[in-house]
Amino acid sequence: MNEWRYHNPVRLEATALESLPKLMQTLGAATGKWLLVTSAGMTLRGVTERVKALTSTLDIDWLVHDAVTPNPELDDLDAVTARLLPDNIVGVVALGGGSVLDAAKVLAVTLPYAELNSLKASLREGKGQQWQTKLPLIAIPTTSGTGAEVTPFATVWDQTEHKKYSVTGTLVLPDIALLDPTLTHSLPETETLNTGLDAISHACESLWNVNKTPVSEAYARLALTLAKTALPTVLATPDDAAARAAMQQASVLAGLAISQTRTAIAHAISYPLTSHFDVPHGLACSFTLSNIITEFTPQCDDYDLVVLLGRVKTMLDDLDLFGKIYKYVNREQIAALKSEMVHSERTGNSTLKLIKLENLIEEKPLLR
Ligand SMILES: [Zn+2]
Repeated sequence: MNEWRYHNPVRLEATALESLPKLMQTLGAATGKWLLVTSAGMTLRGVTERVKALTSTLDIDWLVHDAVTPNPELDDLDAVTARLLPDNIVGVVALGGGSVLDAAKVLAVTLPYAELNSLKASLREGKGQQWQTKLPLIAIPTTSGTGAEVTPFATVWDQTEHKKYSVTGTLVLPDIALLDPTLTHSLPETETLNTGLDAISHACESLWNVNKTPVSEAYARLALTLAKTALPTVLATPDDAAARAAMQQASVLAGLAISQTRTAIAHAISYPLTSHFDVPHGLACSFTLSNIITEFTPQCDDYDLVVLLGRVKTMLDDLDLFGKIYKYVNREQIAALKSEMVHSERTGNSTLKLIKLENLIEEKPLLR
């Protein structure tokens, strides 16, 4: 028999932001200093003040770190940890997109110590991850796509050494993911597209994956069923509440799927494009999906899955993702990065055998 296991202890709470104080109390840190990790944009839009007002009846003080930028940086996170250590923070709330959630996941494991247990030593100098405990963490996603609210990994970028690290393990799992889709209604079109593409990529990547289980597969299929209709809808009608909620569910389901399988070849192809040319993650990890589906379906004997992936492919083709990525990087520049695309551990997760990278990174004429 095929042995498999599934474990993801993140508590999902699909509820309004107003439930936050009640959820904070359930984590046993109802007094003391809490850290709100968010972005400057959220503070500007009044969301930081809204969180403070909502929780005013609790016996807590808020410290706010709202300087998280896309792609959280190693030295930056070490500096924030060093600055906040004397405050003895008792809990963390992360409110934002994938970068905010990743930064908070890291801070929740670096902050519970009296001395700096630095990322510099653990990651850049290769001494290993020494953390043994974490602060209570509530993740509140404001985008639908990264799945960071349920994944046991957080990406840390090292601008000095031009590297990307992953802090992994159950310690970086949030305790609670608070899912309020109304927080995603004001997301601009480009972010809606790029994050939605990331969710679709996660679902697909967990399907052509050597680590897939019956549970990850069920989640991934439902994520694709929801997203193939909901993504075009939220792009055309940004305030469609049902479609925004469906995209949030797709993101969570796809995140639960990759929390078991990790990602695969489309993500391996994406990383050099993001680190050399700043291609947004969701676009970089999805422009190849249509070509991968073309390669995958003849190798797949599950008729229903072939039909589902065919519908996802049609939706992706309509979005002209090659046209969008060529605004960042041209055909020759993509081809020149081939060696960096295959040198990732991610490629090994893929069940696809004997495919040429050229067939994935080159635009194909549409046969319709
Ligand atoms: Zn991704």
